[in-house]
Amino acid sequence: MNQEDIFKNIISHSKEYGFIFQSSEIYDGLSAVYDYGQMGVELKKNLREYWWKAMVQMHENIVGIDAAIFMHPTTWKASGHIDAFNDPLIDNKDSKKRYRADVLIEEHVAKIETKITKEVEKAKERFGESFNEETFRNTNVRVLENQAKADSILDRFKGALEANNLEEVRQIIIDAEIVCPISGSKNWTEVRQFNLMFSTAMGSVSEDANLIYLRPETAQGIFVNFLNVQKSGRMKIPFGIAQTGKAFRNEIVARQFIFRMREFEQMEMQYFVRPGTEIEWYNYWKLARMKWHQSLGFGNQNYRFHDHLKLAHYANAACDIEFNFPFGFKELEGIHSRTDFDLKAHELHSGKKLQYFDPEINQNYVPYVVETSVGLDRLFLAVMSKSYVEEKLEDGTTRVALNLPAFLAPIKVAVLPLLKKDGLPEKAREILELLKYDHACTFDEKDTIGKRYRRQDAIGTPFCITVDHQTIEDNTVTIRHRDTMTQERVSIGQLVTIIEEKVSFKKALQSLKQVP
Ligand code: ATP
Repeated sequence: MNQEDIFKNIISHSKEYGFIFQSSEIYDGLSAVYDYGQMGVELKKNLREYWWKAMVQMHENIVGIDAAIFMHPTTWKASGHIDAFNDPLIDNKDSKKRYRADVLIEEHVAKIETKITKEVEKAKERFGESFNEETFRNTNVRVLENQAKADSILDRFKGALEANNLEEVRQIIIDAEIVCPISGSKNWTEVRQFNLMFSTAMGSVSEDANLIYLRPETAQGIFVNFLNVQKSGRMKIPFGIAQTGKAFRNEIVARQFIFRMREFEQMEMQYFVRPGTEIEWYNYWKLARMKWHQSLGFGNQNYRFHDHLKLAHYANAACDIEFNFPFGFKELEGIHSRTDFDLKAHELHSGKKLQYFDPEINQNYVPYVVETSVGLDRLFLAVMSKSYVEEKLEDGTTRVALNLPAFLAPIKVAVLPLLKKDGLPEKAREILELLKYDHACTFDEKDTIGKRYRRQDAIGTPFCITVDHQTIEDNTVTIRHRDTMTQERVSIGQLVTIIEEKVSFKKALQSLKQVP
């Protein structure tokens, strides 16, 4: 099955088993907004908890906060979001569809690059052993023509963006003969800048009402609380402040399921350091965050760094951790060395000092900041897409399973009486009572035992406990393991230890310990 079909299956599986629903589905949905269902909420909570424990619980010098979504409007002036949090958009007059001008251009260039790759692959097949790719790329006329075309479009585009010349951006689209994928026409409007922040009004009387914004990132709630936390927690640099919470962006092109949403959740940590040490800490967090992702066990080859060559004006180093989603490698987390840009900007706009007295060097300064920022929904999608498996079994049937790390599974244990009689349900409920104080458990007595196992496989439950007639006689049960489908007979007394060993966060957290 190709990746596109697998992705479709993951989306329908997410709906069928209560992980993710389209928002307001009965009203035909709201574009790029999603609700998490009964299983999704648990998996999302576990992912958040794993991040929180790794960041806050495992570090003596990192604490958490929960800042409000609404913030004073000047916050967004200081952060640069009011002036510069824009995407260039363009409309096709025939289809009435709206596009990001930069995405249209980048996709066009990607198509040209695909042509080049195909040309190279064809030649590789033709020439076999003797093929020298570099020579071919430097001499083949068609390759050279296409490469020149792609380079010239990108150069022009870079220049247009730097000069903020939107008319030129439009001209590039016209000159490259880019057509609307829906109408097929080149009937484009002018390009306009579109601010991605949602706004609303605070206050009951319209004349008094203040325009305020739904935060487009959680980071600013940390910056404005920097001194509150430092003073009340007597924090010494270097120290970090972590936060998880909703962020809102009016994305023009929102697609690929929960990859790009208009309402999403971020998990961010700002690490405040002494100026001059930021690159050291940036490198530390780069590795630490990569290690965290890889600890989930989905294969190290599915993660890579993408170092930013062109840096935002406030950053002196930045990279993304990219993940191999079903639609290719894409950003999962950003790690940025943001210098003292944000704290200085807040000092300027608020007129309040945001400085730290460093007793070790006897100096006051505005700390530098290294930020780690991961989207919880993107992480959820990454986890779903690599956990989802369709397995052909020996008997010819297909088993759909979610091979989630046990500590992330929405339900840890399903207790299943083999029959609905002979005291088996009652005995099963006793076991449920024993386990439910520590773990998310479920009880299921409907359908054949085989069907019940499959239902649990499909939501990723690592353990099924079956209660049968022997249980009544000798207090033993069978415990079935999701991944191997093997069963073993154990006494009820052993259950707590067997399950705890596998489902606690402890092992995963311990594996993070030796960051180089
Ligand atoms: P992109 O380039 O994909 O738009 P970004 O560089 O704007 O992302 P950041 O501002 O660095 O993203 O935000 C940090 C993280 O927040 C991203 O790595 C991503 O995981 C998540 N994120 C950002 N925008 C969205 C969105 N619209 N929907 C879901 N997650 C998002």
